[in-house]
Amino acid sequence: MSIILQESQLIGAHLSIEGGYYKALERAKQIDANAVQLFTKSNRQWAARPLAPQAIELFKEKRNSLNIYPVAHASYLINLASDNPDIILKSIESASWEIQTCQALEIPTLVLHPGSAGSQSREQALDNIVRNLDYIFEKIPGLTCIALETMAGQGSVLARSFEEIGYIINQSKYSERLGVCLDTCHVFAAGYDFTTATGYQAMWNQFINYIPIPYLKVIHANDSKKPAGSQVDRHEHIGKGCIGIEAFSLLCNDPRLRHIVKIVETPKASLEEDAYNVRILKSLIKK
Ligand SMILES: [Zn+2]
Ligand SMILES: [Zn+2]
Repeated sequence: MSIILQESQLIGAHLSIEGGYYKALERAKQIDANAVQLFTKSNRQWAARPLAPQAIELFKEKRNSLNIYPVAHASYLINLASDNPDIILKSIESASWEIQTCQALEIPTLVLHPGSAGSQSREQALDNIVRNLDYIFEKIPGLTCIALETMAGQGSVLARSFEEIGYIINQSKYSERLGVCLDTCHVFAAGYDFTTATGYQAMWNQFINYIPIPYLKVIHANDSKKPAGSQVDRHEHIGKGCIGIEAFSLLCNDPRLRHIVKIVETPKASLEEDAYNVRILKSLIKK
């Protein structure tokens, strides 16, 4: 019974697609994970090549045979909040390509950094995101949802609060195709200190205040090198940073989050470090 409980949580790492999309699934298996996050293309370039039908088939076959749950993460270049027409055009094209690719690969969730306001007001920038997401969803029907990631909130980066993400979801005509990715390092850096049981409950009360729990699709489980409220986004190995192991234990044993996929994006020089962090998270699940 205890083994079944432990096995049922989806825990994995962000892994490379070098050599083909299916390679990320194989790497997940190597580190004893049952989930994986991957980039659908180079995360720092706009250009994308068309997908080969064989690549799609191979990915689906491997996903079924290895039984790995996939999540995708969109390019860091996309800024749907921008007021620069060139950036907007490229961002819409790129996000459209990514969501179509996810749908071809049958990846249910595409995690997206909502954007950055630049010199605009935050309200204006959030409205740009709503409008551009609606445009994309209208143009591309399908099942993949876009999960808006909580951000550390440095400078004009949006989504530093649950309120900002809740606003986008509420205003969208396609809210059923939107979700949320909660990054533990980012929310901590943004000022939600959930290192104690009281702080943990307070954070979720804030979350629920603006976002119904069913919108939560992915948790990025990362410790933080920087203290709460620093607004600095520096990931650390689970239990070795300012968040600490207790908070991750609360997260892994929260019945509301049992079915939410948890992905580590911790520093690494080799797969062994991902294997370590996945192992730590699994070890926290109480039997
Ligand atoms: Zn991210
Ligand atoms: Zn980060």
